[in-house]
Amino acid sequence: MYDVIIIGAGPAGITAGLYTQRGNLKTLIIHNGKTSLENANKIENYYGFENGITGKELYFQGIRQAQNIGIDVKNEEVIKIEMIEKSFKVKTTKNEYISKTIIIAMGTKKKTLQIDGVKQFEGRGISYCAICDGFFYRNKDVAVIGNGDYAISEVNDLLPVVNKITILTNGKPAPDIRSEKVEINNRTIKKIFGHEKVEKIEFDDGTDINVNGIFIAQGTADSTDIAKKIGLVLENNKIKVNENMETNIKGIYACGDCIGGILQISKAVNDGMKTGLNVIKFLK
Ligand SMILES: Cc1cc2nc3c(=O)[nH]c(=O)nc-3n(C[C@H](O)[C@H](O)[C@H](O)COP(=O)(O)OP(=O)(O)OC[C@H]3O[C@@H](n4cnc5c(N)ncnc54)[C@H](O)[C@@H]3O)c2cc1C
Repeated sequence: MYDVIIIGAGPAGITAGLYTQRGNLKTLIIHNGKTSLENANKIENYYGFENGITGKELYFQGIRQAQNIGIDVKNEEVIKIEMIEKSFKVKTTKNEYISKTIIIAMGTKKKTLQIDGVKQFEGRGISYCAICDGFFYRNKDVAVIGNGDYAISEVNDLLPVVNKITILTNGKPAPDIRSEKVEINNRTIKKIFGHEKVEKIEFDDGTDINVNGIFIAQGTADSTDIAKKIGLVLENNKIKVNENMETNIKGIYACGDCIGGILQISKAVNDGMKTGLNVIKFLK
């Protein structure tokens, strides 16, 4: 059992970890290697680098710094956090880990899917969380857009509830899943139709299918996906925390870009420091 699991190895997560590990808490950092920093070609406004530094270099230096003081760092994709008696279970595509506390430092939400109709039908047949909204589609036909491990995890949450699931890979390779309730459709999606709610998906080749709901699970789970599944309160699509960086669930903290505010490294580092210190206070 870990004292703290930090999801995210960007400036917020690593800084939180530096404090918790040095505060004698058994710390695990899990990351999937995808960070805002990878797109930052040169960072010149962060303290201590006289010639600037690339985002990628900064990211991996941070990870090595954490490992150098004994923090466990795993490169795995987190798909879910679950509450178990007085602790939390973090599920990745490979493993499960148990911890007394969790720090979410997963960066900003990924971009929404650019398909005609997605924005229009959000909350009216388009969902981003199977465990939250699956019940609304019991015994109905739904589609899941995505082809990776996160999409499969969403399909598995829907299987006991819905009648039929069509996995829409949107032109990408098909995932490996076998169930008589699941069909795979590799066509490229053109448009989502409906009146009050989602009714139909049309493909580039002119064919279409009727569905009652669509779950978007493209790529990996982001901070809001993870937050919604466990019942964290969001505000403007960011995780809501109080002045101690606590979410509405005792023992779960959040910091960095995923809580909003100024999306800069210095702010993420400051958040991480505050979060690490507050977790130490909470557990001691
Ligand atoms: C193009 C660009 C240029 C920028 N330039 C600057 C700059 O010059 N100066 C500046 O101060 N800021 C800059 N920024 C902003 C800066 O990169 C962010 O503010 C900062 O990285 C936020 O840190 P963070 O730790 O909150 O999140 P991130 O650095 O985004 O880290 C998120 C972490 O969460 C992990 N993660 C996410 N989802 C999962 C999952 N499902 N499973 C496991 N791990 C997961 C990722 O692997 C990553 O480790 C720039 C951003 C961009 C996009």
